[in-house]
Amino acid sequence: VSRLVLVLGDQLTPDLSALREADRARDVVVMAEVRGEAGRPKHHPKKIALIFAAMRKFAARLEADGWTVAYARLTDPHNAQSIDGELLRRAKDHDAKELICTTPGDWRLIQLLDDLPLKVTRLPDTRFISTQEEFESWAEGRKELRMEFFYREMRRKTGILMNDDGKPEGGKWNYDHDNREPAAHDLFQPKIPRFQPDAVTQEVLELVGSEFSDHFGDLDGFAFPTTHEDAARAADDFIANRLPRFGPYQDAMLTGEAYLYHSVLSPALNIGLLDPLDLCRRAEAAYRDGQVPLNSAEGFIRQILGWREFVRGIYMMDGPGYTSRNALRHHRDLPWLYWSGETDMACLSEAVRQTRENAYAHHIQRLMVTGNFALLIGVDPQQVQEWYLGVYADAFEWVEAPNTLGMSQFADGGMLASKPYVSSGNYIDKMSDYCDGCTYDVRQKTGAGACPFNLLYWWFLDRHRQRFEKNHRMRTIYATWQRMDANKRRQILSDAEAFLARLDSGAHV
Ligand code: FAD
Ligand code: SF4
Repeated sequence: VSRLVLVLGDQLTPDLSALREADRARDVVVMAEVRGEAGRPKHHPKKIALIFAAMRKFAARLEADGWTVAYARLTDPHNAQSIDGELLRRAKDHDAKELICTTPGDWRLIQLLDDLPLKVTRLPDTRFISTQEEFESWAEGRKELRMEFFYREMRRKTGILMNDDGKPEGGKWNYDHDNREPAAHDLFQPKIPRFQPDAVTQEVLELVGSEFSDHFGDLDGFAFPTTHEDAARAADDFIANRLPRFGPYQDAMLTGEAYLYHSVLSPALNIGLLDPLDLCRRAEAAYRDGQVPLNSAEGFIRQILGWREFVRGIYMMDGPGYTSRNALRHHRDLPWLYWSGETDMACLSEAVRQTRENAYAHHIQRLMVTGNFALLIGVDPQQVQEWYLGVYADAFEWVEAPNTLGMSQFADGGMLASKPYVSSGNYIDKMSDYCDGCTYDVRQKTGAGACPFNLLYWWFLDRHRQRFEKNHRMRTIYATWQRMDANKRRQILSDAEAFLARLDSGAHV
């Protein structure tokens, strides 16, 4: 008898643990394009197109390799439109009683598979550099979990950027002090490669255009890699052309430049078209060959070997309750401007515009513009989380939730971040050119034209004083607030309240 082998839309890896366990001579691979996943939350059309196109191409590759694939297209009349529904339908068709799967990166799906009336063999996802056991034994007994220390473990484990004497290459673990430069417009700015849709992708684009036209986001200009070969080309291009300057400019933001020196590899990486360890090794090789400076290579490797592995470890360790955390008890609704982009705040309107166009924004836009604003005004973290999960092509819960709820919104009470990522307009002004073209004045601290980030920053700190005043990384800032003239403090708080009242009333802000 045959067994079913589930391959989800973000598990498009030939040596996926479920495929390794299965027998291509007798088992049936199940893949399904379902509304239950594409529509909850309403994902960006470019993200749905990426996943469906890559799934169709991967299914064809599996068939060419001798697998039997039961593939459900979205508009197939018998499609059950849910993962469990499709598995049960296929189990009946093939008289299968067993399912082999790789653990999904989402607790909802893990629970759904575990509850199926089939014998389920759920295998670990081995596409990560650390195992969950490794992460949890590292985490055990630590008062604080900090990425930097876990990252060092991963450097030691893989030997990446390590010397024979066990010391980190160049003598330091982290070269961030050489980074964090603002960027200027540059005619020679290397562009990201664009992969023109082939016939399969074109057919998917038409499908998505007609079935999901009510979702936030533009479908035009789709150019993500959708095969392993194209993803490898995208990685080569990044390493040759943008990695050398990745380090210094990783925190920079520039109007009209959505990508700067970022890799834009997360969409391919997160659905299985690229291997994270291989990518780190290639960045290291480029450094050892003298093509890339150490601060850029190390900065990039840290994002993958450190952050990506670390956030996954936390999400998986914490369990299904992670996404309902709300440590700061924030309950404001997500403002409409996150969908419309209609606001006089140039930084926010640019971040939303790029997100709508590209299903992409880079880390500092996500953290210090959209995330910062939502945290300052106290948006319900679940609404923030749902927004990020829907609008970005690389968003899957294991990586999106800890970044949004944990790093950006402090909703996990500090498991992931040692202090809340909040800033006034000053930081945005330092790292971008947004303020030059803004209706608000970043230098103005109070009054009608004052940058809202300047007002809301103090409003947030004042509101959460009890919680954060004793945090050693925030003591100086509370001391500054305390030293400020009492009338000025009152003015800032009342200006912030007035701004929030206008925002809540739906007025254009
Ligand atoms: P680069 O800047 O080129 O970085 C290289 C790679 O490092 C990325 O491709 C990514 O795989 C990894 N990486 C970098 N930072 C992180 C991080 N903090 N956590 C995990 N991996 C990281 N990343 C996602 O992959 N999916 C998400 O849904 C997601 N949501 C986020 C939400 C918020 C609020 C924040 C602040 C960050 C989020 N990130 C998410 C992390 C990061 O912003 C993206 O990984 C990055 O912007 C992807 O673009 P890139 O490939 O050009 O990255
Ligand atoms: Fe954003 Fe304030 Fe700068 Fe305007 S002035 S772009 S609102 S930080």
